[in-house]
Amino acid sequence: MQLRFVGCGDAFGSGGRSNTCFHLTGAQTNLLIDCGASSLPAMKQQGIVPNDIDLILITHFHGDHFAGLPFLLLDAQFSRRSRPLVIAGPQGIELRLAEVMEALFENSSRTPRKFELSIVALAPGESRTFGAVTVTPFTVVHGESGGPFLGYRIEAEGRVIAYSADTEWTDNLVPLAHEADLFIAEAYCYDRTVKNHLSLATLEAHLCEINPKRLILTHMSDDMLGRLPTLTYTAAHDGMTVSL
Ligand SMILES: [Zn+2]
Ligand SMILES: [Zn+2]
Repeated sequence: MQLRFVGCGDAFGSGGRSNTCFHLTGAQTNLLIDCGASSLPAMKQQGIVPNDIDLILITHFHGDHFAGLPFLLLDAQFSRRSRPLVIAGPQGIELRLAEVMEALFENSSRTPRKFELSIVALAPGESRTFGAVTVTPFTVVHGESGGPFLGYRIEAEGRVIAYSADTEWTDNLVPLAHEADLFIAEAYCYDRTVKNHLSLATLEAHLCEINPKRLILTHMSDDMLGRLPTLTYTAAHDGMTVSL
């Protein structure tokens, strides 16, 4: 399997990076984790065919993780997508998706589609299987608005991929990412404690409990990006691919 960091930026375009969007592919797997506002052009720039994607997992409703969906759905409509698509995310996703589609492209949520679209609300602790992929959502902590907030433990083709989403430290990150083949973790700041976000120092303090087989940092602020040359950790960059 392969995971590509289509975009690993924050909400502010720090470092010129694209909003969050990861593409996981394998023999029976073709899914997207988050679809931020800039994700459709980033996918096309990197040669990804959006109409081949079977499943999109959304962690929360902030624009840098969610606002790419109206563009992707419109593109699917106009390019005559026929393959069914499942979009799964936190409770309330159906209404939030309709609202953002109406805000950006009026009437787009009501236009009949030529492909089957299923919107699935996920509940924390309840695993769901989509084809060959099993997803377990965990509650993470990321403020008051834009939630509910979910991080994901994804099992596919004998591998475990965990994503913290945007969160401050929560003990839920331990079962979420425990001994995962790949743990993608937010490292927004280096050692400064910022509400609703994770610093590398805080993550580091808990790494022995989590014990991931591989760790890759994402969603970094300018402060973190400036320190990368001096760090021993692997950090994502847009277009980076990892074999699993
Ligand atoms: Zn974010
Ligand atoms: Zn966020």
